[in-house]
Amino acid sequence: MAKKGELSKTARASLAQRDDTNFVTERVCEKCGEPIMLKELLSVKVQGEGMHYYHKNHYALS
Ligand SMILES: [Zn+2]
Repeated sequence: MAKKGELSKTARASLAQRDDTNFVTERVCEKCGEPIMLKELLSVKVQGEGMHYYHKNHYALS
């Protein structure tokens, strides 16, 4: 069981981690052609083609 103090420290750490993911990667979405923020990045491995990259929202649209 975690104490209250440890919980708040963990919450702060996860906030900092979220900030770290808030930058644009060199990947470009195959649906819209725009650069993808790391937190939006969805990588899909396609047999014989390698990795494809999408915005998480755009991949669902197909
Ligand atoms: Zn997109």
